[in-house]
Amino acid sequence: MRWAPISKPCELSARPNLGDYEQARAEFDWATARSQLSGLPGGRGLNIAHEAVDRHAAGVRAQATALRCVDKQDQVTEIDYAELRDQTGKFANVLREHGVQRGERVFTLLGRVPALYTAALGTLKADCVLAPLFSAFGPQPVFDRLRIGGGAVLVTTYRLYRNKIRQLRSALPDLRHVFLVGEPTAEPGTTDLADALAHADPAFDIPSTSLEDWALLHFTSGTTGAPKGAVHVHEAVVAHHTTAAQALDLRPDDVFWCTADPGWVTGTSYGIIAPLTHGATVVSDEGEFDARRWYHVLAEQRVTVWYTAPTALRMLMRHGPELASRYDLSALRYIASVGEPLNPEVVVWGQEVLGLPVHDNWWQTETGAIMISNYPSEEIRPGSMGRPVPGIDAALLERGEDGRALVHGGEVRELTGADVEGELALRPGWPSMFRGYLHDEARYAASFAGGWYLTGDIAARDADGYYWFVGRADDVIKSAGHLVGPFEVESALMEHPAVAEAGVIGKPDPMAGELVKAFVSLRPGHAPSEELRTELLAFGRRQLGAVAPKELTFDDDLPHTRSGKVMRRLLKARELGLPEGDLSTLEKAR
Ligand code: AMP
Repeated sequence: MRWAPISKPCELSARPNLGDYEQARAEFDWATARSQLSGLPGGRGLNIAHEAVDRHAAGVRAQATALRCVDKQDQVTEIDYAELRDQTGKFANVLREHGVQRGERVFTLLGRVPALYTAALGTLKADCVLAPLFSAFGPQPVFDRLRIGGGAVLVTTYRLYRNKIRQLRSALPDLRHVFLVGEPTAEPGTTDLADALAHADPAFDIPSTSLEDWALLHFTSGTTGAPKGAVHVHEAVVAHHTTAAQALDLRPDDVFWCTADPGWVTGTSYGIIAPLTHGATVVSDEGEFDARRWYHVLAEQRVTVWYTAPTALRMLMRHGPELASRYDLSALRYIASVGEPLNPEVVVWGQEVLGLPVHDNWWQTETGAIMISNYPSEEIRPGSMGRPVPGIDAALLERGEDGRALVHGGEVRELTGADVEGELALRPGWPSMFRGYLHDEARYAASFAGGWYLTGDIAARDADGYYWFVGRADDVIKSAGHLVGPFEVESALMEHPAVAEAGVIGKPDPMAGELVKAFVSLRPGHAPSEELRTELLAFGRRQLGAVAPKELTFDDDLPHTRSGKVMRRLLKARELGLPEGDLSTLEKAR
């Protein structure tokens, strides 16, 4: 069933940035978009941190609030653009003083605290590569990413260092400097960041930065192998800036809250970079999700544009309209959501309870910026991700038996017309497109065919060009908006002495979209029991943190393909009581 369109999505106090969609698409070109940014003085290139911070600090917005960080005790730290320029300049100087060269990787493993933002932007100023990690990851994902990314610097807290890194530090030979944020400690092999910053010069001359200089390294997951490091370059800022204007209707006087953690791509592209390039105020909340807390932040901080995720909206919805009515949300003028399918009920709930519909949009780590979106001035079709942003060409490609686009002699077949379904593909060439997977050219090359970037998502398109998410073409899991690679979870579980093998799937969940479920077979000498199940779940949590399995079933007869891989597709079909599909590659039937 399709829900009735919402034809007048927002009461807009000002003309939206994107007026007429068709006209905006027809008139758009990336060169003009680039000219909206100032570039480094003297024509020395384009640097994200200059666009986000220094150019505002040198202009009329110098005293405007850039960051408003709410801590767990509700204390607010405000930093204006001039101050942010100085703090990020100090951080960049600290990197230089410690011999960190341009292009080297600086990792952050921090909660949403002010130091995270200054480290991130200071790293970009120094033309080093920022690799932000999710602080709720366990030691294993942190270690793997630091190792793959060849991190030279890590900025973290003592607690996170002690719990997640200290033991494995000796296996990270590239990691030369660890800066600790917070209470000073005498931890060997680390430097107190506040101490280092206290002696640093705030003035930092951003070096010439080319469009293709690496800027960001975001890890994402596939179905096989280790996490992939998607590389983004400084030119990406053109897409961050433009799409924030078009799809989020962002303006300089906005108070913008993106609830994604900067450890994930949304939290960096839109939680840090895009709003600052507009000179807006970024709200950041150190606390975890809590319905009352979130309404309180929206009301208290007078948030005008809110970019959040379906799981959070579903949780708010569960608390009913009465809770929302207790807060003054009158400042709010625009709501957008990303990361996982947004049920139509939530779009309509937004309209009824918050007085604003939720604008779904779609993108992924590799695309670096919003690619498909609903817009303030255009009809919303609840349940649809919207239409491609100006400057982006999308297509649906015919799929083969493995569920992915059918590639024949290097060519693919584009599906035309209305109500077709295929693998969602994008025409490469936009500024925030990833430039590679670190150390993995083959995987990067395999992401393209017939002149298209293949997204791995299956979508449908209606007669008016609106895209509708259907599902993933592979086994990756989306749980509470976090992309989870089953291979990473399986490998971690198999570290336990009782586990012979594991198969991990995403099990549909009304709140989190999917939850991570593991099936494990045991080694000889171990028998299934409730105690062992509890122990394995706890082991998973210790190793993996927030992406650990929530459910675990013992299965001493895991289905395999003839090449010996666990058939996750079959595990999932059995779990859901769905048809088992093509079993021709099954090694042995039950
Ligand atoms: P990530 O790379 O972690 O940002 O995850 C990207 C993936 O999240 C996409 O390939 C989709 O599978 C999913 N996704 C992102 N946005 C949406 C959306 N609006 N609707 C449905 N799925 C989405």
